[in-house]
Amino acid sequence: MVLPKKGAKQRDWITIEHMADRASGNNDKTIALCCGRCNSSRRMSFEKWFKTPYCINRGINKKSVAEPVKAYLKMIARLNPKDLKKYIIKNY
Ligand SMILES: [Zn+2]
Repeated sequence: MVLPKKGAKQRDWITIEHMADRASGNNDKTIALCCGRCNSSRRMSFEKWFKTPYCINRGINKKSVAEPVKAYLKMIARLNPKDLKKYIIKNY
């Protein structure tokens, strides 16, 4: 995490988004930089999150997200959840 400038609000901080659930662990393919507001907002799968008013109002969707998130979404689309867990543990 990068510390904010003096006076910056927590929602504007640069945070680390853990794209996979924490129980599965995370590695360099499952983390991305993210603003504090988006990080706090996404407490669900990307699929569900993209359908929330938060994302709809901000134009956040699978096409507009940053490259690391696109790569992650492509990766999980190819794996079933059990294989994803194995993949993450193996590469952690
Ligand atoms: Zn954001």
